[in-house]
Amino acid sequence: MNHITDLLNFMDRSPVNFWAVDTCRNLLESAGFRELDMRDNWTLAAGDRRYVVQNGSAVFAFIVGSDGPGAAFDIIAAHSDSPGFRLKPNCAIRCEGGTVKLNTEVYGGPILYTWFDRPLSVAGRVALRGKDPLRPDLRLMRVDRPLLVIPHLAIHFNRSVNDGNKLSRQKDMLPVVALDCNDAAGIIPAVISQTLDVDPAEILDYDLSLYSCQPAATVGLENEMVMSGRLDDLSMVHAALTAMIAAADKPSGHTRVLAVFDNEETGSGTKQGAGSPILEHIFRRINACLGGMEQDFIRSVAASFMVSADNAHGLHPNYPEKFDPTNHPLLGGGPCIKVNANCKYMTDADSAAAFRRVCELAGVPCQSFVNHSDSAGGSTLGNILTSQLPLRGVDMGAPLWAMHSCCETASADDHISTIKAFTTFYSLY
Ligand code: ZN
Repeated sequence: MNHITDLLNFMDRSPVNFWAVDTCRNLLESAGFRELDMRDNWTLAAGDRRYVVQNGSAVFAFIVGSDGPGAAFDIIAAHSDSPGFRLKPNCAIRCEGGTVKLNTEVYGGPILYTWFDRPLSVAGRVALRGKDPLRPDLRLMRVDRPLLVIPHLAIHFNRSVNDGNKLSRQKDMLPVVALDCNDAAGIIPAVISQTLDVDPAEILDYDLSLYSCQPAATVGLENEMVMSGRLDDLSMVHAALTAMIAAADKPSGHTRVLAVFDNEETGSGTKQGAGSPILEHIFRRINACLGGMEQDFIRSVAASFMVSADNAHGLHPNYPEKFDPTNHPLLGGGPCIKVNANCKYMTDADSAAAFRRVCELAGVPCQSFVNHSDSAGGSTLGNILTSQLPLRGVDMGAPLWAMHSCCETASADDHISTIKAFTTFYSLY
């Protein structure tokens, strides 16, 4: 299968963070990686392929390097979450005539109006009654058919809608699930019970989000563009995972690491986010399993390099004035190094130069992204992680259009170039 067909499948199998991690888990298992539990004692040896899942929504895969204690970590970090809507508890609202809509809460910063008038559904995880009161039975859930719609107001009620239309997250954005239902409160329990084939009395709670039922697709004269929801950042997760599996058979002295964190879109401040010490804990344990002392752990961190992979903004043909005059990456021009004078990105000349060399060795082009100086721009997980672990590293990502839209656009060539650059990175030592 070629990398783009593979990406489209990956996107369709990953409607929300929990499913994205499950998709990664399946691909890792097929490539000979075995899961470790943080609660167990670990034994590790050079060449071992292992992964850890945190909260079902973050995954950390690694191949133990042969350099022993003090071995460098070659890390690619990305994130599993995307902006959208989460179902609130007690979410059913019965309206006149039995129409039922669902109460949601916005997650991160989606472009709200891209979610109108398209078939939507729900996916995530459900917590069922388990034997241990503090350990519910957690199940992945995906309603694999169109279930919801957020209908826009007709233009006849707001003739100036195309001149700018402020939206309320609480009033305008609630999805409709049924036209004539008397048992509104029973809808979500019934949907869960049918989908998972469980007794409604066993359902204790859920983390469920909306997703668009539109499958990922290629578009353009030469199919040169890829369209999907969640390309930020699942396209980078896919590229990094593909690269790690491609490079896995080549032995390396360094320990190669893929870190997919959750909750980047809300500031990374959770136990599964880049603000937690989870990656540090994993690194300490790898070092300890190889017989290393505290000093070796610190040597490892000092010798490591991280690629913080999160998408950049490609020059938009309708809004060139929004972009920096000399650093406006093009879709199709290759992966971008992201630079910010106020250190919202971890990139500096040292790390940018290193990544440029990686692209050069991979035979792929490389661009620079800097914000227009009058716009604030975004940040990402690289810096949050470096406040825990003083890693050298670069912020980069393939350019996108319409970041945080329900359906974003990227370049197929850039995706292939990114996979090549990552494969080279994981094959250097
Ligand atoms: Zn992102």
